[in-house]
Amino acid sequence: MKESFKSLTWKQTVLLVSSTLFFAVAIFLIEIFLLVTDTREELSLTQRELIDSFEQPAINAIWALDDLLAAQTIQGILKVKHVSSALLELEDGSRFVSVNNGAPAANPEFFIKISSELFGDLKEVSRSLYRPFYTDANGNKELIGTLTVFYDTQELTSALISSLRFSLWATLARAFLLTLVLSVVFHRFLTQPIAKISEAIDKIDPESPAKNLLPVTRSHSNDELGVVISKLNQILAQFDTTQNKLRKMATRDPLTGLPNRTLLLETITVTIQRAKLQECRFALLFIDLDRFKNVNDSLGHDIGDQFLVRVARNLEIAVGQSGTVARLGGDEFVVLADSIESPNHAAELVDKLLIQLNVPMQLNEHTVHPAASIGIAIYPDDGLRAEDLIRHADIAMYSAKAAGSNQWAFFKPQMTERAAVRLRTEASLHDALENSEFLLHFQPKLDLKSGEVVGCEALIRWQKDGRLISPASFIPVAEETGIIIPIGRWVIEQSCKTIQQWKVKYNLAMPIAINVSSQQFQDSSLVPDIKQAALRYQIAPELLEIEITETSLMNDIESAIIKLNQLKAAGFGIAVDDFGTGYSSLSYLRRLPINTMKIDRGFVSDLPQESAIASTILMLGKQLDLSIVAEGIENEQQLEWLQKRGCEIGQGFYFSKPLAIDTFEANYLAANPNARETIS
Ligand code: C2E
Ligand code: MG
Ligand code: MG
Repeated sequence: MKESFKSLTWKQTVLLVSSTLFFAVAIFLIEIFLLVTDTREELSLTQRELIDSFEQPAINAIWALDDLLAAQTIQGILKVKHVSSALLELEDGSRFVSVNNGAPAANPEFFIKISSELFGDLKEVSRSLYRPFYTDANGNKELIGTLTVFYDTQELTSALISSLRFSLWATLARAFLLTLVLSVVFHRFLTQPIAKISEAIDKIDPESPAKNLLPVTRSHSNDELGVVISKLNQILAQFDTTQNKLRKMATRDPLTGLPNRTLLLETITVTIQRAKLQECRFALLFIDLDRFKNVNDSLGHDIGDQFLVRVARNLEIAVGQSGTVARLGGDEFVVLADSIESPNHAAELVDKLLIQLNVPMQLNEHTVHPAASIGIAIYPDDGLRAEDLIRHADIAMYSAKAAGSNQWAFFKPQMTERAAVRLRTEASLHDALENSEFLLHFQPKLDLKSGEVVGCEALIRWQKDGRLISPASFIPVAEETGIIIPIGRWVIEQSCKTIQQWKVKYNLAMPIAINVSSQQFQDSSLVPDIKQAALRYQIAPELLEIEITETSLMNDIESAIIKLNQLKAAGFGIAVDDFGTGYSSLSYLRRLPINTMKIDRGFVSDLPQESAIASTILMLGKQLDLSIVAEGIENEQQLEWLQKRGCEIGQGFYFSKPLAIDTFEANYLAANPNARETIS
């Protein structure tokens, strides 16, 4: 049961009243005791004096048998205070003279009892009277009578009580006054300040404890109460600081200081409520950096962190007052653009963001070219809840990323389906190998001078439910789950088998390039796998070229060199794929035992307008005596530019898309047994 609240003042008054009353009663009892003792002492003294002074006249009166004198004598006794009667008896016990003051007042029983308790033993006093001037031969006196004086003890008791009555009232009045004064003093000096502290404590907001600190009154600044208050204030201030720190830690990303997911969700929820009231829209941008993994893997995590911080600042600058930037983790950022009213407006902001983001960054001695993919979701069209908006912007971002670097996309409901596919991919990849759902497509590589097909690249496809799934959508998932290792083994096996079959079927030595993913490259079974497959199908090692992305090589350069040397020593060709995206340093490139460099499609697609990077790679290739393959040639202008700059080999849709094996054979092997194709 909950105890009801009782004020401190009330408790203190009750305590004061009861303790003063207790002491008043105790003192009063002592007073009674002392008074009774005093009275009794005084009474016995007066009794002795009285008897002493009336002894001689009484002896005289009895000796002379003078009853007149006797009467006079004891009449005199009666005048003494509290004496009720007196009696003179002869030696034989017969009464000689007696007098009394009349009947005593009728008192209640208990009063009589009290008075006999207090003074019962002093009720009467008597003295034996002896014959004057006479002693017999033995020295004995002769008894002639007795004088007895009786006291009215009840009268004595009532006199005592009436004097005590006054003392009782005085004690009570004193106690009452003392209680009153002490209550007021204690209340003003102690209880009231404590009550004020309790009120102030009541007002403390646990969310911001330092906002309402407790007041220190001047009268208590130098006592225990003052110490308690200032200590409490110190604790509150400390609590406030800790709480702020915790709040910051819980809601901020420690690396960039930007709001984290928790704070972002809160902010979006508030923005949604406001937008609902004002019936307006706002945009949510999901930003994922392109090739951030490359920066991290090739330049190290410290530079990766610096890079993220710089990106965060650039985003904040670009967004300015039009929204909030948050970091979800990794290379994912979200911009809540609450002042964006229309999709056009959002697109303008995204363009502005990309321009700001794309500014090259100097990180130590490295120049990094940041790029990002952005997905846009609009409230309320693309979701009514914070989580839905983030999810949909994320899905749109994936779609933008699939379209290439520095792209953006608005969310469309059909994209959700694609995101779900990604999840399902993971689940069904496990069975794909056993169900033989993978196949290889082949894209020809041509000598740009002669137009001859000099080889091809094997590109994996996943045939699922009658559709061909691109490696871009399942290779990352396969890498995440580790299934890439058996898949990679299958590609090696299949490619070696194909080389052998073409040899048998067309008497042609057609080199095939295979892609090896970063994880697969790190796996210790890679080199033995390749060697064993080549042996099993009895193929010349130079017909199998291994394509490794620049980023995988830079992950662990020393062990990469060892592995590549083993492959090179066995005679296999080695190509660096997607060259230009991985920030390799020149000194490392020199040490890598490679034959071929493949210019990334991204730089070829910029041709001929932006040709600086392609030119540099071509020059570098010449200097290092490497053969250069240009990837993703799509048009005549690109081809011409590359031909003019002496690029030897090319690959791209301009010549052919990757083809199913039958088509590839029909187009390039069967039709022309020498596998020669001229460029028109
Ligand atoms: P990659 O090794 O750089 O392969 C070239 C990609 O560019 C291929 O995409 C190809 O179809 C595409 N491509 C070629 N010419 C053009 C062009 O002119 N224009 C455009 N827009 N694209 C062109 P694909 O087949 O989708 O493969 C994508 C990536 O998946 C490959 O990039 C490679 O990194 C990876 N990959 C493919 N097969 C395998 C494999 O068997 N194992 C591993 N680990 N990765 C693979
Ligand atoms: Mg490749
Ligand atoms: Mg490539």
